[in-house]
Amino acid sequence: MAASGIPDSARVVVIGGGIMGCSVAYHLTKHGWRDVVLLEQGRLSCGTTWHAAGLVGQLRAHQNMTRLVQYSAELYSRLEAETGQATGWKQCGSVLVARTHERAALFKRIASAATAQGVACELISIKQAAERYPIMRTDDLVGALWLPLDGKVNPADITQALAKGARMGGAKIFEQTRVSAIHARNGAVTGVATTKGDIKADIVVNCAGQWAKQVGRMCGVAVPLHSAEHMYIVTGLIDGVHPDLPVLRDPDGYIYLKEEVGGLLMGGFEPQAKPWAMNGIPANFEFGMLPDDWDQFEILMQNALIRLPALETAEIKTFMNGPESFTPDNNFILGEAPELKNFFVGAGFNSIGIASGGGAGRALAEWIVEGEPTLDLWPVDIRRFARFYDNDALLHDRVKEVLGLHYMMPWPNRELASVRPFRRSPLYDRLAAKHAVFGSKMGWERPNFFAPTQAEAKIDYSLGRQNWFPFAAAEHDAARNAVAVFDLTSFAKFLLQGRDAQAALQRLCANDMDVPVGASVYTGLLNARGTYESDVTVTRVANDRFLIVTGTAQATRDAAWINRNLPADAHAYLTDVTSAYAVIAVMGPRSRELLQRLTKTALDNTSFAFGTMREIGIGHANVLAARRTYVGELGWELFVPVELATGVYDTIIQAGAEMGVRDAGYYAIESLRLEKGYRAWGRELSPDVTPYEAGLGFAVKLDKGDFIGRNALMDVKSKPPVKRLLSFAALSADTPLAHGGELILRDGVPAGEVTSAAYGHSLQAVVALCYVKTGGAAIDAAFLGAKFEIDIAGDRVPVRASLKALYDPTGAKVKG
Ligand SMILES: Cc1cc2nc3c(=O)[nH]c(=O)nc-3n(C[C@H](O)[C@H](O)[C@H](O)COP(=O)(O)OP(=O)(O)OC[C@H]3O[C@@H](n4cnc5c(N)ncnc54)[C@H](O)[C@@H]3O)c2cc1C
Repeated sequence: MAASGIPDSARVVVIGGGIMGCSVAYHLTKHGWRDVVLLEQGRLSCGTTWHAAGLVGQLRAHQNMTRLVQYSAELYSRLEAETGQATGWKQCGSVLVARTHERAALFKRIASAATAQGVACELISIKQAAERYPIMRTDDLVGALWLPLDGKVNPADITQALAKGARMGGAKIFEQTRVSAIHARNGAVTGVATTKGDIKADIVVNCAGQWAKQVGRMCGVAVPLHSAEHMYIVTGLIDGVHPDLPVLRDPDGYIYLKEEVGGLLMGGFEPQAKPWAMNGIPANFEFGMLPDDWDQFEILMQNALIRLPALETAEIKTFMNGPESFTPDNNFILGEAPELKNFFVGAGFNSIGIASGGGAGRALAEWIVEGEPTLDLWPVDIRRFARFYDNDALLHDRVKEVLGLHYMMPWPNRELASVRPFRRSPLYDRLAAKHAVFGSKMGWERPNFFAPTQAEAKIDYSLGRQNWFPFAAAEHDAARNAVAVFDLTSFAKFLLQGRDAQAALQRLCANDMDVPVGASVYTGLLNARGTYESDVTVTRVANDRFLIVTGTAQATRDAAWINRNLPADAHAYLTDVTSAYAVIAVMGPRSRELLQRLTKTALDNTSFAFGTMREIGIGHANVLAARRTYVGELGWELFVPVELATGVYDTIIQAGAEMGVRDAGYYAIESLRLEKGYRAWGRELSPDVTPYEAGLGFAVKLDKGDFIGRNALMDVKSKPPVKRLLSFAALSADTPLAHGGELILRDGVPAGEVTSAAYGHSLQAVVALCYVKTGGAAIDAAFLGAKFEIDIAGDRVPVRASLKALYDPTGAKVKG
């Protein structure tokens, strides 16, 4: 132990004594890890936590995110009994109100999603809402929702309770101790330097809140977040306000209200936020506050006066303006840094850190103890970002937009507007000139659809059929019946090279990688539990060289997973070649005819079989052509050196003109792939499912020798899966649209949550994929023949279920 009192070494050092750091330390001790040291530069909760409003709202867009908050609420309700430290937890419920009919329609969808996620949630009348919140004005409202299990807590007290619980479990907490450097060797963290001396550590956890970006930069780890000002007011006593009053959320007015000592705490999420600390956070910002900004707050105040006329005469006791950190996608950042082994991050809480803190702390502690997450945390996984997100100007411009997202209408397909256009394919300008409307994924601009005119090149958001519906239908039709061209440049691409590359892939992949040069293999990358870390297509391009193609969003994640699982002495090296190749996909029954005009290579089935790749000439350029499809039609994906991409594209479009070749976008891909039942990473494939549950057992070769996940799969293979992915199609063309997240019922009983849905233009019906609970039953004709329905905004839409694709390339509709 150093003279200052801090230890020389610890198994884990946690940086930051806000709710997150204390929760991580608490949960590590629950795993029996006692040698845990938490360092706080000021005093516990002095960063952002102390001034939080303390709302704990449970329902989130993703099931596992909901589970994290449900656990927080459960933990907060019992922590006082466990530690003797008051927490202020109160399960007061919350009322949500709608000012617009679209918001009211959304509430119906939320109620269905809540049932699918197991969250108590009830559509209530305006009268019932008024009974629960008598002092609100209701004459302008058109809908309301009641979440009885939501609650509130005192953020500083809950942090102290977690800290006390951590101490009781053996953790040591040192305040007034700032971490000034992170030590690392051979790509792994080895400890920290502090204002009171060095501490060697096996594991370091960055829970430094809005400081987490600068702490990350101490060791080359990107933690993309930026501070923004975040405000609320607290009033004096108001008649009719009492401690049992529920929390009130009025998202159309951007505001929330919570009882606070007989008065009201009113805050919200204004549409244009105010970034803060562009030149870094000032030193000694302990229990820091920012100056009042009534101009910025005005939009919230005006809306609050509409909802709560009593505010007109209420005394304003406090104007609280405190900074909070926001991330590029409004989700927090959790997990082991891809850049540095044993360095973990739990930060960037986007104003839901109190609600999330309990569950996020437990999830991160489990990740640390198990070495990998124990459930699907993809929406918050640090590996969803790439290093380019750690750019101050980008973050500054993005967080202006992000804060307001909490209460904005979560329209289906809603795209963010800031920092756009960002990553551009070489075809970008050409496609933009053809009225492409782009979406953004991992920073890439990707055409979602092509509008007939510039005036129509936009999205008119709604919950029903949006303006692009007929345009995407025409693109879908071209791919099914003629030929369509897709710009898939955003695919992440890697080369794994070296004399041990094949052996390394055999261990990483569930499918057999001992294949001849030119063969492409679709495979899962599984973890030890036999569930998905990713799904990729691997092509052997030479004896010692493999091209790995994966989803746009998975670039960082897959690279980290592969590199972490390469044996230290393997002669196998991974290089990201995403930026070297554009990908132009030519898909549809006439794709062969079109491409054959442009190449001397024979493209018939015998000469160019499905699942193979080879170099071919297209016009003057040589490209790598892969015969595969994600839309269920004959087609080739062309991997084209970026500098040749525009030439190749022009050549294809010219040659295809008389065949009716059409540019097509990702909305068409979605309907095409769902009709074919093709799975997507992050929706159908995740660390929560095995290949057998996903119906992808064909891509698992248990007899090929050992691979990661094999033992777990051997165990489960012989047992009936507890859930199974099925395809669904509505029995009628004229139903509301589904967007994912809806409840599926089997014989009237909740059976699952839709993972993906779209309108299938060939089948002329809503199509969906969903994991259905099997109860251990075999998936036979009797099981599939049950009465299935999707709850779409309260309408029970009859659907048929199928194990097979609903559409086959010959055009036949497959019967359930
Ligand atoms: C006005 C406002 C209202 C809010 N209302 C709610 C709400 O109702 N519900 C909700 O869920 N969330 C709410 N939040 C968000 C919530 O407060 C935060 O998400 C949460 O407190 C973040 O906790 P944290 O532990 O990540 O960060 P912090 O509380 O900031 O903790 C990080 C700690 O790390 C310390 N630190 C930093 N650098 C170092 C270093 N180098 N060495 C040692 N220590 C270091 C800091 O001093 C700090 O104490 C609100 C936020 C604001 C601003």
